[in-house]
Amino acid sequence: MTAEGARPPVLDVRDVTKVYGAGDTAVHALRGVSLTVAQGDYVAVMGASGSGKSTLMNILGCLDVPTGGRYLLAGTDVGRLDERRLAILRNRRIGFVFQSFNLIPRMSAQANVELPLAYGGVRAAERRRRAQAALREVGLADRARHEPNELSGGQQQRVAVARALVTAPTLLLADEPTGALDSASTADILGVFDRLSETGRTIVVITHEDEVAAHARRVVRLRDGRVVEDVRRVPEVAR
Ligand code: ADP
Ligand code: MG
Repeated sequence: MTAEGARPPVLDVRDVTKVYGAGDTAVHALRGVSLTVAQGDYVAVMGASGSGKSTLMNILGCLDVPTGGRYLLAGTDVGRLDERRLAILRNRRIGFVFQSFNLIPRMSAQANVELPLAYGGVRAAERRRRAQAALREVGLADRARHEPNELSGGQQQRVAVARALVTAPTLLLADEPTGALDSASTADILGVFDRLSETGRTIVVITHEDEVAAHARRVVRLRDGRVVEDVRRVPEVAR
């Protein structure tokens, strides 16, 4: 265990650029984004459509690499990794939640949550135990045997959150997690994120909804590929 002060930030983004294509048709999706996120922070990334949110999310999630600048994830320089190492880092460090829940139909909630552990080679008994704990964390212990089509949208998204958490990732990264939900289910998911934040999880949520951002500790706003605002709403907690 390193000393508190020596622990690197979870995210350290330094002057990152992303250009799609080349020449006359090049799109400058990110034009020099810098951002650090410490462990335990809860950040909403906002911005109009086309401002670069998904591009940034893909880079933060190690699904894509920047054109320029540097990105360190928990101290690891992502730009120096090959595809295979990038995949390992992604699987170990990041729990993804998407707008569409992406659950596997005709598989119980429990089995869906166990899936990332099965890929990771965790034994069956241990998988069961950890999946149950993750489902408890999102308040769905009593729905473990239900299949996705027997659950509401909000419950399905909670299963997806449990699946993201089950590997104990360094970062929970969500892209428009409430985009497909009604207001009651949205409140439900935001409540789950609030609780996860209170227990020290690091959360970055990409959203265009003020209601979602109102739950975060900090709001970062993108415009035309640049950070134009970075406001802390709730004091940072020492962890
Ligand atoms: P947001 O998620 O905020 O809507 P995006 O990151 O998806 O923004 O897009 C930022 C800009 O980059 C937009 O102009 C978009 O058209 C462009 N873009 C995104 N992905 C690609 C791609 N794969 N190829 C070319 N242009 C892209
Ligand atoms: Mg987007």
